[in-house]
Amino acid sequence: MCKNPENSYNSEEDFTCGEFVQELLRETKCGYEVVYDPQSVKGLCHYKKKEIILTYLPETRTLWPLFQAGHEIGHAYYGPDFLFRYRALLLPVIPVLFLVPVCLGLTNQPTIHAFLFTICACVFFLLGCYEIFSSEVKASLFALEKLKSRVKTQKAVDKLTKRLKLDIWYNALEIPAWFTVFTSSLWFFYLAARYFSQKAGGAL
Ligand SMILES: [Zn+2]
Repeated sequence: MCKNPENSYNSEEDFTCGEFVQELLRETKCGYEVVYDPQSVKGLCHYKKKEIILTYLPETRTLWPLFQAGHEIGHAYYGPDFLFRYRALLLPVIPVLFLVPVCLGLTNQPTIHAFLFTICACVFFLLGCYEIFSSEVKASLFALEKLKSRVKTQKAVDKLTKRLKLDIWYNALEIPAWFTVFTSSLWFFYLAARYFSQKAGGAL
């Protein structure tokens, strides 16, 4: 996905978003339908429906809409990654990840069991984060590569490169933050369940 906004990308190029999209679809041989929907909050590539949603009109010539189009077609070109492809099977795993520490705590299992389980859950979580991260970076690099030879000035390329680097940093900092929230929650669930189990045991 590619979030909107960007006020500073208002220099106009010699080609429209619609022309760029058609050219890329021909070049990549992606059989996707493109929907231009300015009401949509963000650009999206729907793998199953083979549909790309762009939040700007096809006649737009400014840099950011062109980048958004390139980014979403990049997603279509590379296709869904492994975990995303099997997300229907993997999604039910997420509540289980939180249920296991509760069960371990309620049955008063030793801390080492909860610790080992947390490590396994973290590996799963980090694989998911890595997949999302690499898929976004790949799609943005694709857009940058396709725009490099087409835009009028080097300044535009520099602007997009700078933006891409910022995105990578932002994502790289976001992953440890989510990782901390995730591991602390699992640990909290285990300790809370163990506390209540011991309290109930003591009262009996
Ligand atoms: Zn994306």
